[in-house]
Amino acid sequence: MTDSTAVNVDVVIVGGGIAGLWTLARLKQAGYKAVLLEAEALGAGQTRFAQGIIHGGTKYALTGKLSASSEAVADMPALWRNCYNGRGVLDLTRATLLSEAHYLWSTSNLTSRVSGFFASKVMRARTSELAENARPALFRHAGFKGQIYALDEPVFDAMSVVRAIAEPVMDSILAIKAGNIKYDKDRLSVQAQDDQSYDFDFKKIILTAGQGNENLLAALGLQQPQMQLRPLKMVMLRGGLADMVFAHCMGGSVNPRITITSNRDAQGEVVWYLGGQLAEDGVARSDAEQIKQAQAELAELIPWLDQSKFQWATLAINRAEVKKPGTKRPDTFYVEQQHKVMTAWPTKMALAPVMAERILEMIDNERLKRVAEAELPLWPKPAYAILPWNEASRWSM
Ligand SMILES: Cc1cc2nc3c(=O)[nH]c(=O)nc-3n(C[C@H](O)[C@H](O)[C@H](O)COP(=O)(O)OP(=O)(O)OC[C@H]3O[C@@H](n4cnc5c(N)ncnc54)[C@H](O)[C@@H]3O)c2cc1C
Repeated sequence: MTDSTAVNVDVVIVGGGIAGLWTLARLKQAGYKAVLLEAEALGAGQTRFAQGIIHGGTKYALTGKLSASSEAVADMPALWRNCYNGRGVLDLTRATLLSEAHYLWSTSNLTSRVSGFFASKVMRARTSELAENARPALFRHAGFKGQIYALDEPVFDAMSVVRAIAEPVMDSILAIKAGNIKYDKDRLSVQAQDDQSYDFDFKKIILTAGQGNENLLAALGLQQPQMQLRPLKMVMLRGGLADMVFAHCMGGSVNPRITITSNRDAQGEVVWYLGGQLAEDGVARSDAEQIKQAQAELAELIPWLDQSKFQWATLAINRAEVKKPGTKRPDTFYVEQQHKVMTAWPTKMALAPVMAERILEMIDNERLKRVAEAELPLWPKPAYAILPWNEASRWSM
């Protein structure tokens, strides 16, 4: 028989990715008694796979006019930078800023299209073309014939952000067993990883479980909202790479042909992480075909790169979002409430802060009668997820 402990809280958040953690930290700052339940490890869903780019909308403005998507993210670089500099809503001074800027480059045969785009009024305020001595090292090579621009978009190590947010609020985070949530009106029963169970009395429950939201909604007896999954097959490579690179290569479409971000693995070796159209189209390819395609893309786009010593891996992962007609990408984050249940998907890691502000505003507006402050039990805490390039089993090819 397992012991059961009753816990009285204002808010229970389910899911410890960027969305749930940012929301937890902000609710606690605002004086709510909030807890977060995580079934696997903090950051274990999409968050650890994120490229970490804090988009300012440039990528979405490649059509030459500001779209709803690009406007929604325009303020995000400044918001995140303020947090990183210790002057924002949350303290991200301990997070790792991998690059101050993300870059955008074109190969010579695509130059005219790109320069036309950057000459447009829309983008002039946000970008600058770089002189040769200001370019990232990779693009100072004599073989580089295109143009390169710096975008005002910082790139963060996603798991360092998870740690920076979670550590100060760790006492409010509980490691639970996957699939072990029972819901009955105002009560949520969960089994912790040590087999102790907890019965939460709550005023509000917030689902930030990414792809897990669908099962949770079903368990809570809700048919809405519906979720969509948009799959990607990312590629990573390592083996003597000299430079950390953070750049989109512009192709013939609105989506970057390839998006490269970089990090270091546990041995300190540089790893490149490839997304963009390569990862969208890669879903239809086998792993071996996807690696071949990545090799061909890099050979064409960065012909001076010696690929002979590279080790390659693919990585299949779904983006989980609110359902849109035709599985289109939502323009911005999503939060809706049915009864006491809020369901949220940030759509982008960059948008988690504004999504959390919206949740806070919705809860503030209800003027909940808050529970009296009392100590939470000492319960098992989840581990942090591992970054994909530090999982040895992925590097089998
Ligand atoms: C390959 C890739 C690259 C990306 N790059 C970028 C980028 O560069 N910039 C950007 O802004 N965005 C990027 N994104 C999008 C971004 O990663 C996601 O929007 C964001 O991480 C979603 O966060 P989340 O907290 O909603 O979900 P998740 O990170 O998926 O977190 C959900 C959490 O809930 C937990 N969970 C699930 N079910 C349960 C349950 N029943 N009980 C308890 N816990 C549960 C999971 O274990 C997980 O920890 C990228 C996404 C992908 C896939």
